Amino acid sequence: MRSTELYHRLKAEIDTMPVVDMHEHLIFPEEDYLDLARGLGADFGRFLSWYTVDDLQSAGMEISNVQEYKDTAGAVLRVNGKPLSLDEKWNYIRPYWEHTRHTGYSRAALYSMKKLLDVDDLNDRTYLEVSERLSSLMKPGVYHTMLKDICGFTYIVNDIDTMAAPGAYERMDHSLLHFASRFRHFSYAYKPGGIENLEKTFNRTIRNIDHLLDTMDAQFERWEDERKGRIALKIADAYLRDVYYEDSTREEAERVMRRIFTLRKIPRNDETLSYTEARPFENFIMHRILDRAEEHGFPVMVHTGIQTHMGNEVGNSRVGLLTNLFMKYPRIRFHVLHSSYPWMNEAACLAKQFHNVSLDLSWVHIIVPEGAREGLSHMLDMVPVNKIHGFGGDALVPETIWGALEVARENIAYVLAEKVAIGQMSESQAVVVADKLLNGNAGQIFQFEP
Ligand SMILES: [Zn+2]
Repeated sequence: MRSTELYHRLKAEIDTMPVVDMHEHLIFPEEDYLDLARGLGADFGRFLSWYTVDDLQSAGMEISNVQEYKDTAGAVLRVNGKPLSLDEKWNYIRPYWEHTRHTGYSRAALYSMKKLLDVDDLNDRTYLEVSERLSSLMKPGVYHTMLKDICGFTYIVNDIDTMAAPGAYERMDHSLLHFASRFRHFSYAYKPGGIENLEKTFNRTIRNIDHLLDTMDAQFERWEDERKGRIALKIADAYLRDVYYEDSTREEAERVMRRIFTLRKIPRNDETLSYTEARPFENFIMHRILDRAEEHGFPVMVHTGIQTHMGNEVGNSRVGLLTNLFMKYPRIRFHVLHSSYPWMNEAACLAKQFHNVSLDLSWVHIIVPEGAREGLSHMLDMVPVNKIHGFGGDALVPETIWGALEVARENIAYVLAEKVAIGQMSESQAVVVADKLLNGNAGQIFQFEP
């Protein structure tokens, strides 16, 4: 199919379409991003820093501090505690790169290198060239160049709340970036220091559930006042627990709240709440967060499906676990990030059955390009097209996004070309569908105007 003229015609048409990028984690304001490049360098490691590094580790590569590698956008790779020089870094990564170079993550990285740097491959001969050419791009205006001029994004939904440095939100480019924000400091308030942090932030005393809920209202009010660019709630709990939120009672939550203060008064043997004890509190607060999201009309984006980073429990993130929330909150638009891969068909069933559930193909295109094509094909057969969102890069730094976008465009063109070829839609209808997936549908969920 990819060799046919039809595919290439559709791909060429799709390449010209404006795109709303539904999901990124661009944590650095541009000045911090340039500072990072000035301080630690911007080299080939950056293209491997956010996702490909997971594949490198899966292939057997060991890193002393993978979080540091990710937080420095691939600059600092430490092995046995020692940071590697540029040459050492390449020599260390190279054998694992040979094992991982054909995965979806790596394909996207290579596409980005080709587009931004005009380098065809990452190997012994090019790693220095990649590093030098990337460094030369680190100039003011680079975000605009990469994200608007090259990728053609009209808006980006950026999820940075718990990842960015304090004050970063205010220094972001609000003409391009809109924000999905998290409220987990309320649902996780049972953790050591959680209540104290909320008391400090809101300058008030919190001793019971009512105090906590009042504080949450204050957060929502503050959020509305300063709403500029904040357009959705984000739930990313699947990294820490399963996403089945039982409808726990107020009494259960109050019991946990009392226990928090008992432990605070008698801190013997470093005793803390167990997760089993705390879970009803977390559930109760999550339902109150959703009550307020429904009242305020905020869409809720939920991480579902495979998690990044190594060693997660993938079953925690299965979309079917959210069904009770879809039923209970019919006026909330639940936006199922990553279409819950590897449960994409389950996600499609739920989106078909619930008017308030939409599907999002962010990140899936590069996790498994073939799976994304299969999933999209099923979705187009099952789900009204206004509820399918075609692209999000899910990246930390802008230079990795173009490759992900290119894989997404290929996948969308491929699936639509197949449907046109067997007479399921006309070519002009396919173009309309592609535009909805990449651009038109986003405005139905999110209010992008500040
Ligand atoms: Zn994400």
